[in-house]
Amino acid sequence: MIQYMGGWLFRRWGWQARELNRPVHFVVPKFYLCLQEFRETYELEKLGVEEKNKKVVKEWIRRNECVSNADGLNSDNSLRLWKKLQKSELAKRQRDVVWMSLHKCLPTREFLWKRGLCRAAVCQVEGCGDTETVEHLFWGCVELCGLETVTWGTIMFGLGVADKVKSRVLWLLLGCIKEILWDVRNLLIFKNQVIGKEMCLNMILGKLYVYYLRDVYRSNATDAEGIWKYKKWRFLIK
Ligand SMILES: [Zn+2]
Repeated sequence: MIQYMGGWLFRRWGWQARELNRPVHFVVPKFYLCLQEFRETYELEKLGVEEKNKKVVKEWIRRNECVSNADGLNSDNSLRLWKKLQKSELAKRQRDVVWMSLHKCLPTREFLWKRGLCRAAVCQVEGCGDTETVEHLFWGCVELCGLETVTWGTIMFGLGVADKVKSRVLWLLLGCIKEILWDVRNLLIFKNQVIGKEMCLNMILGKLYVYYLRDVYRSNATDAEGIWKYKKWRFLIK
């Protein structure tokens, strides 16, 4: 009633008169409040109307962004790494695993133990017994000790290869390896299933084969063969 009377008085005396030729909502939905907050935070109103295309707005939002350095990398290499990850053709899940491993937020035993979510931070692989960190999972665990020709930096960041094609293949291969290692680790912990090295290799090559097929589809079989050397490793897939 008070609202009705108030509204009547306001209209009569012309206080806070509103244009009624467009829709009015007195309780702004939360979605629009979020948009308004976003607009104010990034000062989007300073952009001219003609500048409001997607690319310019993206650049404007990122103008004050600072790069967080990846563990053990300088700012230039970190920037290269984040750009690479952002633009990479990795499958979504592989990209997530790589992103989480770089940010040290992959839920390893150590990560969970620090937050009181598991009893011990020990790696579950038989005969290991070390703390299961991200580095341990992808590099230090006994299952990987046979790999002596690659360095820790190559496995973690996929940097250090100048050739563009080789660098791309390495990056995709690392994405596949990390995803499979993470899957194998989860199978061991949650389902008590031990996956052998041969099976792991099979799974990794299976994932890699998808990228090879994608290149065949995009270009042609000869170019894809030149990049992936599929004939050299296809006999390993069983
Ligand atoms: Zn281990």
